[in-house]
Amino acid sequence: MHPRPVAWLVGPALLIGSLGPLAAPGRSAEATLMGGQGQAPAPALAAIDPITGPRSRLGRDWIGARPIEPDTAILVMAGHADSQGMAGSGTSGAAVAAGAAPMFEGISDELYWNMVVAETVVALGQQRGLRISYYRPPFRSISDGDDPSTNWSVGRQHAASGGYALEIHFDAWGPSGIGSGLIPPLHRPFGRLDESLAEAFGGYPMAFRGGLGGPRRGIALLEVGKLEGPLERSLRNPATRGDTVIAIANRIVAALEAGLGRGPTTALPLSPPRDGVGNAPPGKGLQASSGGE
Ligand SMILES: [Zn+2]
Repeated sequence: MHPRPVAWLVGPALLIGSLGPLAAPGRSAEATLMGGQGQAPAPALAAIDPITGPRSRLGRDWIGARPIEPDTAILVMAGHADSQGMAGSGTSGAAVAAGAAPMFEGISDELYWNMVVAETVVALGQQRGLRISYYRPPFRSISDGDDPSTNWSVGRQHAASGGYALEIHFDAWGPSGIGSGLIPPLHRPFGRLDESLAEAFGGYPMAFRGGLGGPRRGIALLEVGKLEGPLERSLRNPATRGDTVIAIANRIVAALEAGLGRGPTTALPLSPPRDGVGNAPPGKGLQASSGGE
């Protein structure tokens, strides 16, 4: 990483090229960060979060107590990145369902926001010194879920080798959506990372829908929120997009830090990065080949 004060704000937009900037030029990242969204999770989760909306009301029937090594490699993926144009392409979001143009032609709005959030999480996490990387499948449509290049396959391998695989999702709009929460990986006893993400976003039952394909392969699914209402509007509005994405990413990274036992997060990386964290040698973490696009 280069010591770019707002690189983690600008970078993700560059990563996805023509998908467009996260925020209008000149927008103050610092003002955003001072908003406090990345602080430790609220002690009691409200049914409706001010940013991400309704949380899952399905009971959480698990506790993540297994300790996690602080240098655990975290792999972040965008949900549905390999399943466009087929079943399982992700929610359209309420706006597109109501007739709005998709954020990017040819992909679901869910994938668009999954990518933006996932890439921002990785950029911010790397700046914070986490061993975190991003995986992006080579094709948007891979019919065989067990093809070696799918999120499922790469995430499964990462988890099997002791890492933490996290796939970012937004939940369906309308009555079919449930809300924010972590659907935990099922390949081994639930750990502190599962716990901290569930404390920050809410939790789903361990056997949600009989155990989804990702969790059965060891991949944690994080439902950020239902893609509708104030959350979707604040993402779609260019004036609030950057703030919203950063608030979500900050919350995820803070939860990862807590789950890794790196101590309570008391502050967020303002510009310039404190203690040269942004200068950390890139060799420290697992750098997916797509991580530096
Ligand atoms: Zn999804």
